[in-house]
Amino acid sequence: MDKYAAIVLAAGAGKRMNSSVRKQYMELAGKPVLYYSLKAFEESPVSEIILVVGAGEIEYCRQEIAEKYNFTKIKIIVEGGKERYHSVYEGLKAVKNADYVLIHDGARPFVDKDIIHRSIEAAKLYGACVTGMTVKDTIKIVDSNGFAEATPDRSHLWQIQTPQTFFYPLIYEAYQKMIAAGDSNVTDDAMVLERATGQAVKVIEGSYRNVKITTPEDLLVAEAFLTKK
Ligand code: C5P
Repeated sequence: MDKYAAIVLAAGAGKRMNSSVRKQYMELAGKPVLYYSLKAFEESPVSEIILVVGAGEIEYCRQEIAEKYNFTKIKIIVEGGKERYHSVYEGLKAVKNADYVLIHDGARPFVDKDIIHRSIEAAKLYGACVTGMTVKDTIKIVDSNGFAEATPDRSHLWQIQTPQTFFYPLIYEAYQKMIAAGDSNVTDDAMVLERATGQAVKVIEGSYRNVKITTPEDLLVAEAFLTKK
């Protein structure tokens, strides 16, 4: 039987939220934003959750999140790093026993059991898969002088979300290579794999609801999603 781990990232500073409370701890319908994705993984086939948090926040998260909501699958809480990919690497090092790993932004509360199921199935088939949705707006490449340079065909443009799911040894090795090479400018996990291995990454549908809470407006949208489920 294959085993699955989830790395849930909550070590970002959330600067775009303009709030003294970090966005992952801000409340959404009375519970921290982070609660919702942890709950989805707790109720999924995942057997271990690795929670990655900011410096000095391990104890707070243990008491106020893991224990308070009785998330028994949170096996370890580790400190993240400066950039998202540093945090992912800390999470990957803390995985105990998994064949596949789902890497998820704790700032995306609307991951659900269907998305988790589809991600696992695709990762088993292809070794690597990311969730996303086709863009709704026209996207332009704009040059450094502010002029439109090109308009790529919208049907081939996807906004990438998380979870991003991989055969564990594959992604761990790719991250080790990237950290050793001192690479930067990495904004998602699939990029690490693309650069380190050339392995094809399957893109599957997430959901338009699976938004990332980044700015105060996103919280309003998220509240609306929750109340109109
Ligand atoms: O900053 P961004 O919105 O891309 O963050 C996506 C996710 O990665 C968030 O859940 C955030 O908490 C996490 N993150 C992290 N460590 C960082 C930066 C971001 O765990 N250094």
